[in-house]
Amino acid sequence: MSGQDQIAPGPIVPNPIVPNPIVIVGAGQAGAMLSICLARHGYDVTMYESRPDLRRVDIDAGRSINLALATRGIVPLIDAGVIEKVDAITIPMRGRMIHVDGDPTPDLQPYGSQPHEVIHSVSRTDLNAILLDAAEATGRVSIEFDAQITSVDFDTSMLVFDNGRTEPFGVVFGADGAGSRVRKGMRAQGACTYETIWLDHDYKELTLPANADGTHQIDPNALHIWPGGEFMLIALANPEGDFTVTLFAPKTTFAELTTPEAVAGFFTTEFADFTTLVPDLVEQFMENPTGPLGTLHVDGWHLDDRAVLVGDSAHAIVPFHGQGMNAAFESVRLLDAHLKASPDDWAVAFANYAAERKPDTDAIAAMALENYVEMRSGVVDPNYLAKREMALDLEQRHPAHLSPRYNMVMFSTMPYAEAQRRAGAQADIIASAIADPSLDVNALVAELPALPPLDPLADPNALSIS
Ligand SMILES: Cc1cc2nc3c(=O)[nH]c(=O)nc-3n(C[C@H](O)[C@H](O)[C@H](O)COP(=O)(O)OP(=O)(O)OC[C@H]3O[C@@H](n4cnc5c(N)ncnc54)[C@H](O)[C@@H]3O)c2cc1C
Repeated sequence: MSGQDQIAPGPIVPNPIVPNPIVIVGAGQAGAMLSICLARHGYDVTMYESRPDLRRVDIDAGRSINLALATRGIVPLIDAGVIEKVDAITIPMRGRMIHVDGDPTPDLQPYGSQPHEVIHSVSRTDLNAILLDAAEATGRVSIEFDAQITSVDFDTSMLVFDNGRTEPFGVVFGADGAGSRVRKGMRAQGACTYETIWLDHDYKELTLPANADGTHQIDPNALHIWPGGEFMLIALANPEGDFTVTLFAPKTTFAELTTPEAVAGFFTTEFADFTTLVPDLVEQFMENPTGPLGTLHVDGWHLDDRAVLVGDSAHAIVPFHGQGMNAAFESVRLLDAHLKASPDDWAVAFANYAAERKPDTDAIAAMALENYVEMRSGVVDPNYLAKREMALDLEQRHPAHLSPRYNMVMFSTMPYAEAQRRAGAQADIIASAIADPSLDVNALVAELPALPPLDPLADPNALSIS
């Protein structure tokens, strides 16, 4: 079954055999979206969130953290009826703006040739707030903040909180992120095994401030990259005029940057032009936390009809394809489709969801890792650029048969595993054509199977791109 064509247009009658209460642990992107879907099916849901209500408390300590939103994330937002609100807080990015030190005119590498082939910068907090409002507006979702769950006991069907309180559950949805307690409880029952493969690179977020008049210092309509070979800086615009900047670098590099002098020296040597844009760069660097990066591999996403994982708790990935949240929304949509398809047997719904989705999240996990190399060094590598140019040219000539991998991931709704397979076949053709210019590359591309249609809900004009 494809998740594309199974979404219920309206509410269904809840099945009385689903054990109550229905709880979701985690009110992040996945949990909030899932609660809307369950409420739409007519279920009453309680959602527990360890952090305070981000609509009332500044949980990012004044910093704006943003994410790239693309087609796979946009479709569920359309389905949830919140796209107009999301539109008001997004900034379109048409391509990668590549900054090379000493070159005053950065190079824009457009993401695609079609006007709608843009991604959108969106504040993590503001998007989450829209989803929480929509969840509460259903009248069926009750959210408890500052409610940290320390364990999920499947023997007694009890949630255990950090203050010792316990609450019963009938079904628990684990939307509690990469360090999921629901998943830990499932493992205790033998329902799953998991492992995080940590990258030997970390990240740190910084802020590139607005001009004094509130305008952006650099073009807001691009994802800025300062490639550095083994490390890189990226920047995504915020509506307030500032940019969220992220440094990705080897742990060994971070280990050397422990004093203000070392930090100043690093940025002056590696990113001199960038340094002039952020007057308090060293202070920010010393103050802001450094985070790890890893890929979570989970075998077993559900425990009969009592528990299922969704979002990062099932498939946390490294952020280099900007797909973690997009994938989380897409997973919720697929789970929703399977709940609709098997309303009287959630064990079957959960099992079918997991079986269909796992190959796809494995595929995006691998592609996200590969994209790191592309971003930090490929974007200035003549071989990479020649291949990309040929892919875009072939796409123009054979739009029904070929689309560059980045575009299949970001601007289509084909399963990730299919995008990965197609990308492999396309890469082989392009590599052969570059090695042997006499090859009839058009004939080879014409033999590729036709690209699948977009999800019927996907609307290229759903978000403003002006
Ligand atoms: C540096 C970085 C950049 C990224 N950039 C992008 C991007 O550009 N585009 C993109 O699509 N994705 C991006 N991602 C990935 C994205 O942030 C995640 O994939 C997404 O937020 C997953 O949503 P989630 O709801 O599954 O998990 P989370 O967002 O982690 O939400 C889990 C929620 O559960 C709560 N919780 C956790 N444990 C408990 C507990 N024990 N009890 C109660 N509540 C609990 C947490 O407080 C949280 O609110 C990025 C990630 C990183 C680290």
